[in-house]
Parts: sequence; structure tokens; C-alpha cells
Amino acid sequence: MKIAEQDETIALCNRCGFCQVACPTFRATGHESGVARGRVALLRALNEGRLEWSEDLEGPLFACLLCGACTTNCFPAVPTADLIVDAREEYLDKVGRKRIHTLLFDQLLPYPERLRRVAKAVALGKNSGLSSVARALGLLRIFGRDFPKSEKIIGRMPGHALRERFPAGALQGRGSDLNIGYFVGCGMEIMNPVAAEASLDLLREAAREVHVLDNACCGLPAGSYGDREAARRLAARNLEIITAQSLDLIVTDCSSCASFLKEYPALFDEGDGLHEESKKVASKVRDMVEQAVSFPPPMIEEAEPIIVTYHDPCHAVRGQNLVEPPREVLQSLSGVEYREMPEADWCCGGAGSYALSHFETAMKVLERKIDNVEKAGANVLATSCPACIIQLSYGVRRRKLPIRVCHLSELLRERLPRT
Ligand code: SF4
Ligand code: SF4
Repeated sequence: MKIAEQDETIALCNRCGFCQVACPTFRATGHESGVARGRVALLRALNEGRLEWSEDLEGPLFACLLCGACTTNCFPAVPTADLIVDAREEYLDKVGRKRIHTLLFDQLLPYPERLRRVAKAVALGKNSGLSSVARALGLLRIFGRDFPKSEKIIGRMPGHALRERFPAGALQGRGSDLNIGYFVGCGMEIMNPVAAEASLDLLREAAREVHVLDNACCGLPAGSYGDREAARRLAARNLEIITAQSLDLIVTDCSSCASFLKEYPALFDEGDGLHEESKKVASKVRDMVEQAVSFPPPMIEEAEPIIVTYHDPCHAVRGQNLVEPPREVLQSLSGVEYREMPEADWCCGGAGSYALSHFETAMKVLERKIDNVEKAGANVLATSCPACIIQLSYGVRRRKLPIRVCHLSELLRERLPRT
């Protein structure tokens, strides 16, 4: 919806400032422009004609993490993140988009095979210290203007992608009658194939068949950027792939993908056939975090004792209200002592590729998160979003902390019996 049509929602903000305590970018920068109240004020100024749509808006509009924490701390529940996405969409229409994003959303993310090839080239450059070559080829520019600084966030890149070892198709399961579709998140496929393999193996314990889907990107990066058209195209493509199978559940181990798949109906107008189709699909989507609760109880008796803490990805805790399931699962595992960290639901600053374009702010947000991780005194930090894993791993590496960062699925796979 256009910002000009959202006067009523914008007027809900009474300027109380309660959002300041919850907003990671405000706590990192201390700038009024970096908090929900300031962001809503900017939109109000646009509507009142005190500001023009121009390139000057790019900074304030795209510096929001879209974490949603402000809304949970706001008495009238102003949906700042949704307003910002609408404003970004209008910005792209009125001011223009970068060619690099058109390339990313139209030429790369819809085609998993292309994405895998590019990731391989980037991995080759990064792992062999030849990233300057890859940069010269123009491959790294797609990741944002702060790439030279943020390159170090990513340690070594995996040498293979998940679907190179497990191509799209059916895998025999060892479990019940469930027919499960495994939705492959780009981040899990490219950056964390080992954890994705753990998820697949767990799903095979629970299902009669697991279908590795030939899906493309879920569309969240395009949707968050404000390119809803690109997000819709990706969603339509994925819906076609998902509905070609007779699936009882669609499970993904990326909380961001799970949250966006559940939001697919909002991308299509009521009356559009894809709206109804996406509602049916959304009702079958499960985040691995919630699906894991149904896995068998632990039976390994001599598991090495570990102390685990959990970081809530924004798209799990606020996107899907998944607070208890990951904790329940972790507390049920053999040898695990679970310790809650302070502010576990506070954004880590990963936010997709946020660090690649807002490196300094992302690092300040990360510092606070890692302070809290240290307070928990754990030696394992589990979570369920590949972008969070990359960001948190960097935070831990940077401070040289003896803490393993991993996906929840990896811990489960290690501590649940195999049949
Ligand atoms: S966004 Fe909400 S919490 Fe922030 S100033 Fe406005 S009403 Fe208050
Ligand atoms: S969505 Fe997050 S970063 Fe954006 S204004 Fe709200 S709390 Fe701040």
C-alpha cells in the first residue's frame, strides 16, 4: 500500500518513545532517525509534503533491520517494519532501484543452479584468498557496498551446496506415513549444507518419504527490499513446485523462509487463485524448530555434557511466535544443560545481508548480542537461521570465545538415536 494511503496507521504513533528501549539500531547509534518513532516521523513528513522522495531517503529507509521489536514494545502496536517495507517499495518506484538488485532478484535467486555456480566461484575466491579476482569478475558486488569490510564476517565457505549431494527428488524415510517436502533455503543450501543434511536426516527419521524440493529463494530478500513483484514471482514459482507433489507438510530449517512461506497469502489479492493456493500451502509449512518437538525422546545415555544457550531469530520469535519449541527441544536432549541468555530475542544484526550494506551498525548490534551470549556461560550457541549463524559465528570468532555456534538440527542429529 502507498504511504500516502497510510495516514491512519502513521497517526497511531503518539511519539511516546517507548520503542527506543527495544530498537537495536537506536541502541547502537543513538540517533532518532534510527528508531521507530523517527522512522514513522519521516513517513509523516513525506505525507505532509515536508519531504520529497529522493535518494536522500535511501539511508533512513534501508537502515531498519525490520526486526519488529519496536511493535512489541509499542502500546498502539505501530507496524513500523511493515510501513518501512511499503515505503521501500514506493522508493524503488519513485527514485529507482539499483541494477545490482535487479540482477540478484531477477537473474540469480529464481535459479538455484545459477546461485550455486556463483556461490562456488565466490567460495573459490574466498577460500583461496583470491577474492580480489572474484571482485574483479564483478561477482562480489552483488553482496553490497560494504563488502570489503564485511567480507570477513564469513569464515570459510563450504565447498559444496546441499543439492549437489542431495538433488531435488524423493528420499526414502524411516518413519511414519508422513510425506514431507523439504524446502531448501538459499542460506542453508549454500552456507550451511552440513546443518541442512542434519535436518534432512532428522526428517527421514520422522517421514515415510522426504522430497527435497527444487524450490528457488522463498522471496524474503526481495520482499524486504521492497520489490514485492519479484517476491511474488518467486512465490508463484515455489507454489507450483510445492503443489506438484502430494505433501502432508513442508518443512524448512531456515526460520526466515518458514516465516515468509507462511506469509505467502498476503502477497496475492483475494480472488487470485494463488491466494487460495498459498493459504493451503502456508497451513502445511513448519519451521524445523516447531517440527523438532515431534521427534522421538533422547535415548543416548552417554552424551558428552554441554551447556547450551539459544538465540531467537527475529523471524522465529516475532515472525512465527516460536518461543517455547526450541527451548523444549534443547532441554530434552541428553547431556544438555540449557541456560537462557539475557535478551535472547534481541536481533543479532544479521538481518539477511544487512551487515553487507550497514556494517558499522550491524557490528554494534552484534556486540550487544555477544555480551549476552557470554553472560549465559554456555559452550554451545544454537539457533535456526543461517544469517544469524554467520553473524553470531563472526561475533564469537572475533572475541576468540570457546563457543560453538550451530543450527538446532545439528545438535538434535548428534544427540538423537538413529534407527
Ligand atoms: S512507534 Fe510506538 S512506541 Fe514508538 S513513539 Fe510511536 S507510539 Fe511510541
Ligand atoms: S523494526 Fe527493528 S530496527 Fe526497525 S525500527 Fe523497529 S525495532 Fe528498530
